[in-house]
Amino acid sequence: MDTSDDCLFCRFTTGDLAPDVVAESELSLAFRDINPQAPTHVLVIPRRHVPNAVALARADAGEIADLFDLAGKVADAEGLGGHYRTVFNTGSGAQQTVFHAHLHVLGGREFTWPPG
Ligand code: AMP
Ligand code: ZN
Repeated sequence: MDTSDDCLFCRFTTGDLAPDVVAESELSLAFRDINPQAPTHVLVIPRRHVPNAVALARADAGEIADLFDLAGKVADAEGLGGHYRTVFNTGSGAQQTVFHAHLHVLGGREFTWPPG
């Protein structure tokens, strides 16, 4: 699987560092965000190093499908009752700070729309 030496999230997928893992599959890993923005705030990442969601979809559509499948399993395991937000930030202007694709799964509180 493609990884990048200077990527924090690749250090999670290789086992070099250990995040608070809540679920995993052959292709994806889910762990708690270190700075949670909701009672449930889990990040789901592909084991493949790609910089963002579109790059993941273009590399292998099956991997982004697996990412959402694992997100749904996490939401169910967290007892969110089908009410949660899934977010990909793309680019620094949209507040992406880690350039390894990651899906935020947020739940357990009320949300506003538009998101701001
Ligand atoms: P983004 O701003 O969309 O790139 O999201 C990156 C997320 O990674 C942020 O919500 C951070 O709180 C989270 N994060 C950064 N470092 C860690 C870490 N060591 N363990 C878990 N989450 C992290
Ligand atoms: Zn990476």
